[in-house]
Amino acid sequence: MTAVLQYDFRSDTVTRPDEGMRAAMVQAVVGDDVFGDDPTVKRLEAELAGRLGKEAALFVPSGTQSNLIALMAHCERGDEYLVGQQAHCYRWEAGGAAVLGSIQPQPIENQADGTLRLADIEAAIKPDDPHFARSRLLALENTIGGKVLPIAYMEEAAALARRHGLACHLDGARVFNAAVALGEPVARLARPFDTVSVCLSKGLGAPVGSVLVGSAALIAKARRLRKMLGGGLRQVGILAAAGLYALEHNVARLAADHANAKTLALGLGKLPGVTVAEPDTNIVFVEIAPRYASAFAAYLADHGIGITSAYGATRQRWVTHLDVDREAVEHTLAVATEFFSMQT
Ligand SMILES: *Cc1c(COP(=O)(O)O)cnc(C)c1O
Repeated sequence: MTAVLQYDFRSDTVTRPDEGMRAAMVQAVVGDDVFGDDPTVKRLEAELAGRLGKEAALFVPSGTQSNLIALMAHCERGDEYLVGQQAHCYRWEAGGAAVLGSIQPQPIENQADGTLRLADIEAAIKPDDPHFARSRLLALENTIGGKVLPIAYMEEAAALARRHGLACHLDGARVFNAAVALGEPVARLARPFDTVSVCLSKGLGAPVGSVLVGSAALIAKARRLRKMLGGGLRQVGILAAAGLYALEHNVARLAADHANAKTLALGLGKLPGVTVAEPDTNIVFVEIAPRYASAFAAYLADHGIGITSAYGATRQRWVTHLDVDREAVEHTLAVATEFFSMQT
């Protein structure tokens, strides 16, 4: 990295707590949550269970742990979960379900819109036969790669899974982005699922934390699994206060991130050798013609603009969030335009 990243589009995980959030953290009333004593984390869990329309919730250190706990709560050793090839809880979690849960993934190809074809799901569900792992769970993700799964699709997929006796989990790391983009209450998006995992540390802007919601029975099981995985925390109200602050202040404003992503996509899409798909939410995937790709990435870095290009040198991911405002987007587009104006 050649310059400090002043304009950091690498991820919505890079946000830093603002003054108000830090003040809420300082003032948090805390206790030992492993003893069930922390009132602030209880308030956060109740708040998220309520918003998502479920009985209970569990604060966990990360979204990866939240998904793993959910998979282990639904599946026993030798069971399998059906999951998208591109899903975070298949591809991006270090194989935790297999390693730590002895749970076999059954990956299914994601379509361009992020969905799994219903026919593919149905074909992947195994009959009860000693040759096969027991198909126990369907795991979907919303948003996935920034794309919003429609409510009707989630309902159909969940109904199909249930007809075959499978439970349903939603990796809703960015489910508030999906809810805001759809203009629907988040509970409506959560309804088809037994469990939903929500990240507080992405677009919502908290420094740490995810919350798993579900029935009281599943969350009781999840609480034991969290302890087993080393995720039981003590005076965690300090972190929960940040989450509560985020829910109060940073949900509706996700619409601004989505608008900024659209502006970014529109501006970048006008440049020669750049192809951009219109974003649904706050993630923009950009294809750069091979002859410009590495020079463009270097030019951005030299100007303090951070992006992710770990998706192949010509494929960049840009993510908008509460620490890159309209001005940052406009400045960035000016820098990008300048780069292309210098190419011959
Ligand atoms: C970020 C993310 C997670 C969890 O990530 P952590 O870094 O472990 O908090 C899970 N699923 C999706 C889709 C994500 O984007």
